[in-house]
Amino acid sequence: MPPSQPVPLDTDVRWIHGSASPRRLTDPPLQVHRLAPGTVLIRQSKDLTFEAPFVLLLLGGRRALLLDTGAVDGTTLREVVDGVLADWLSARTGPDAYDPDAYDLAAYDPAAYELVVAHTHAHGDHVAGDAAFADRPATTVVGHDLGAVRDFFGFTDWPAQVVPFELGGRTLEVFGIPGHHATSIAVHDPTTGLLHTGDTVYPGRIYVEDPEALLDTLDRLVAFAEDRGVRHVLGCHVEMTRTLGRDHPLGSRYQPDEPSPFMTVAQLRAVREAFRTVAHRPGIHRFDDVVFCVGNGPRVQVPLLARGLLERARWQLGLRSRRRSRRRTD
Ligand SMILES: [Zn+2]
Repeated sequence: MPPSQPVPLDTDVRWIHGSASPRRLTDPPLQVHRLAPGTVLIRQSKDLTFEAPFVLLLLGGRRALLLDTGAVDGTTLREVVDGVLADWLSARTGPDAYDPDAYDLAAYDPAAYELVVAHTHAHGDHVAGDAAFADRPATTVVGHDLGAVRDFFGFTDWPAQVVPFELGGRTLEVFGIPGHHATSIAVHDPTTGLLHTGDTVYPGRIYVEDPEALLDTLDRLVAFAEDRGVRHVLGCHVEMTRTLGRDHPLGSRYQPDEPSPFMTVAQLRAVREAFRTVAHRPGIHRFDDVVFCVGNGPRVQVPLLARGLLERARWQLGLRSRRRSRRRTD
């Protein structure tokens, strides 16, 4: 059984955030951080992809779940995942195992330990590394379309149904959160109190594909988080600065001023309240922790692209961005 109190996460980490100059790229391809035993968060380098997505790896007694394969070729990610799984399998009966009593050691068979590669949603910056896992033994790569996602997790009532997903001594909960993308899922890990919200809620620009679906999704996310006593809300990117209401420009290659990727349930509630006020107004709407981009017309695209091009030129020339006011205190 999972522990009654969530295992604390080590969220105090300085993430790689790109390089100050294109003439001196300093980030490693990936940063791997152990949040808790069997709970690993990986960030891809901004030197490789401005998206710099986060990829989550959750391990149980019988199998592991990799959520997303990132925005670039997955060869390096696969090496990292293979290493983490090997360490986990050698250490899981020792002090590194989060709950050794949960494992059925008689059934212990490292060769049969499965890896499931699933996706927060099917956008390219979350599935680009899939091919590197296609030939991996004991591995299932979940398909990208909605039918494949529903079938794999066993949904009979998409998106509201909460479906259990068993890792072995660690039961995750999965439900649909359309609005940013039709295939978006949330994954809850009761062991750590972590709710993963993909690109649907994160400290950055929330691109709204379907406003009605997102209104419903945010209501369900808040109700779920309150009901389950969620401790941390995590998405796939960071695009805000530490100045409230201010995002890094689209395509930024250097973000030294990032807030944590982890948000609180109070922030999730605020995101829900904020979206209710702008859901039906196409355009860019700034709030403290997120920027909603509603619709895909020129009112959204032109300012985003113009600011992004300016930032890119500034970065290429080695010029620094202006400082801002209303700083965060966390
Ligand atoms: Zn994304």
